[in-house]
Amino acid sequence: MHERDAVAEAAVTFAAAAPPGVTEVTLVIAPDVDPDIASEVWVASTAGTPIAHATLHITIHYPMMACFGCDQEYTGDKLAVCPQCGGDGLPTEVVRTAAVAGWVGDGPA
Ligand SMILES: [Zn+2]
Repeated sequence: MHERDAVAEAAVTFAAAAPPGVTEVTLVIAPDVDPDIASEVWVASTAGTPIAHATLHITIHYPMMACFGCDQEYTGDKLAVCPQCGGDGLPTEVVRTAAVAGWVGDGPA
């Protein structure tokens, strides 16, 4: 379960380094990660840590894609077709499986 491991690692790493007073966390996941599973793993991984009660926001990061047919660039998941010509494309960036992209806190900066 690669996605579970990746989310758990992001959660544990952030929890260990988080400043006091974090109230919201934004977790960015790859399109092939189930947001429900990510949420469930996050809650389990942060239980008992200072960020256990922070609100979790999950954002799906769709990678940039480049079309084989017309070189159009677009964003989408692995199976997304080119919006211009309907052809197949390939991701041109690597999206991390799960990563904390930001947080909001009411503690000292
Ligand atoms: Zn195209």
